[in-house]
Amino acid sequence: MKKYLFLTLLLCLTFTISAQNFEQYFENKTVRIDYKHIGDSRTEKIEVVNCHVGGQWDGTVSHLVEPKRLGGVVFEVFDALSGQLIYSRSYDCLFNEYRTTEKGEKEIGIFEECVRMPMPKMMVKYKFTSYNRYNEPTELYQGVFDPQSTAYDKMTKGYKVKKLHIGGKTDDAVDILFIPDGYAKTDKKKMQGDFKKFTSYIMNCSPYKEMSKHVNIRAIEAYSEESGITNPNRNIYKKTLLNCSYNVIDVDRYLMCLGVWKMNEIADDAPYDYIVIICNSGKYGGGGIYNFYCTVNNVGQSSDYVIVHEMGHLIGGLADEYYTSEVSVRDFYPEGVEPVEPNLTTLVNFDSKWKDMLEEGTPIPTPTTKNYENKVGVFEGGGYVAEGVYRPAIDCTMHKIMYNRFCPVCLKALQEAILFYSK
Ligand SMILES: [Zn+2]
Repeated sequence: MKKYLFLTLLLCLTFTISAQNFEQYFENKTVRIDYKHIGDSRTEKIEVVNCHVGGQWDGTVSHLVEPKRLGGVVFEVFDALSGQLIYSRSYDCLFNEYRTTEKGEKEIGIFEECVRMPMPKMMVKYKFTSYNRYNEPTELYQGVFDPQSTAYDKMTKGYKVKKLHIGGKTDDAVDILFIPDGYAKTDKKKMQGDFKKFTSYIMNCSPYKEMSKHVNIRAIEAYSEESGITNPNRNIYKKTLLNCSYNVIDVDRYLMCLGVWKMNEIADDAPYDYIVIICNSGKYGGGGIYNFYCTVNNVGQSSDYVIVHEMGHLIGGLADEYYTSEVSVRDFYPEGVEPVEPNLTTLVNFDSKWKDMLEEGTPIPTPTTKNYENKVGVFEGGGYVAEGVYRPAIDCTMHKIMYNRFCPVCLKALQEAILFYSK
């Protein structure tokens, strides 16, 4: 409890400046910008396709400008008259992973993406900036949004929203939204059972269970034309609502959504900060991208682990701490560069990481011996490589298939992220 109080105080101090600005700059509506992220390992551009306006603003009104960048893309909104930064969010995307793959070296990829902001009262300028793995910025796009314009589309309403766990008001809680994919109308009972099952997996896992008053979970009831999920490796192709697929960027278990605009259009019907796609498939898989969305398959012994692991990426901006599984991304953590993720270090700037959480006398690097089990240390191996990248604990839900075992560093990052959406 004391820890939460301390974090709350810390966050309050950081965000006081932006808390008072919501009413000055924004009204209680949402703007969604749909765009294409296009490029390969060398080139990158953004093409804005459409803006939608409507609903109410369900995101935080207290923390409008992000204090720290955790994602590879930054979206910033400036008051056009004064030039003041009034809203910002960083996030990651599938494109940033694609461009580090072998395919991304040879072929241009086109990916659907969306960002949201509260409806500005006056004209605003917005820009997208991309950061590479060396933390070097490239400005990708600048646009203008005029709230007086009638050129923008209205958000549509129509899907049924189901409440699964309501801990608090939308402006004092992180709002998680389940969207189903690959459930036909005949799968209705199974879908409802899965919603309950995944809610209990989240709410029985730390830190969500201790912070349940700051967590809301809702689901959209929506059906696909066909039952099941596309798996190109087995020549299985399904017509589904969100067009989720296995083997995205050439990793068999990597299950991602290829209909991101549709996903966000459906999500407009419910309050949400984060989207979790529940896929109707018995094949092990999932994926999670910071501040973007995550997926999980609905059957299998490890689906309790998969959902909280993928939500670790989604909400906490946490990195994979494993280094022995098959991945297609390369040079993800270059030598001599401190990763932005809170649970990995290259020791280039360890002071910015969990150094203050080490017990006195803990050797760096820390040996993976019995006396350092369940202790915070600096253990070599993580982020898909065995050497030069270090993780905070021998075991963690971000490292191994272990449910409800986030290490103290990952727990802290998740607590901070949940409090970010609280008052
Ligand atoms: Zn961890």
